[in-house]
Amino acid sequence: MKMKTLKDLFLDELKDMYDAEHRIIKALPKLAKAATCPKLKAAFLAHLEETKGQVTKLEKVFQSFGETAKAKKCEATVGLLKEGDEIAADNKGEPTINAALISAGQKVEHYEIASYGCLHEWAGLLGNKEAATLIEEILDEEKAANKKLMELARASSNEEALCCCDEKQSQNGTADKRPINLRRGMRPVNSGRRRAEGFGVKNNGSAITARQVAGLPNN
Ligand code: FE
Ligand code: FE
Ligand code: FE
Ligand code: ZN
Repeated sequence: MKMKTLKDLFLDELKDMYDAEHRIIKALPKLAKAATCPKLKAAFLAHLEETKGQVTKLEKVFQSFGETAKAKKCEATVGLLKEGDEIAADNKGEPTINAALISAGQKVEHYEIASYGCLHEWAGLLGNKEAATLIEEILDEEKAANKKLMELARASSNEEALCCCDEKQSQNGTADKRPINLRRGMRPVNSGRRRAEGFGVKNNGSAITARQVAGLPNN
């Protein structure tokens, strides 16, 4: 039996990611459609365009090794995207939808970051500078996509999911007069700063004031 080399391992993983990116291209428009936050929709669609470019970059990486591009089913991406579909369906029409979609998206980005991190190291060890550079470009795009999603969660989607949960409590007639952060027994990171700025966006896009966030009527 022929011994596996690092180059074999590299090419196997490259085929895996070539398959993964094709699946992500099919999934991103669905994630964008499910998002109710316009900024999140735009972020998914921007990453869709970037992902199409990543497929071309991967083809160049195959070429740099004298190989033609081939896909090998990435079971991890199949699973992550299946979970993403489920989380989107479970949170449809809910104030949690955007936070849920961001979590699904971030899981995919983290998988890509781990995979391209390894591929980048291996391309370097195999002495293929062209491949290493192309993979590093993709890696940087995945890191930026992950960061963008995290920023959107912190800027609005998490708060949106948190605030409506408290609205439900007050509709039950079990309204608690303490501030949201005390009611929850925990102070979310940065919540003071966000509340002090006095704005947020509801999932229908309308502006909400700090008074509403705090459960107070508008003046
Ligand atoms: Fe990607
Ligand atoms: Fe994979
Ligand atoms: Fe990505
Ligand atoms: Zn709300």
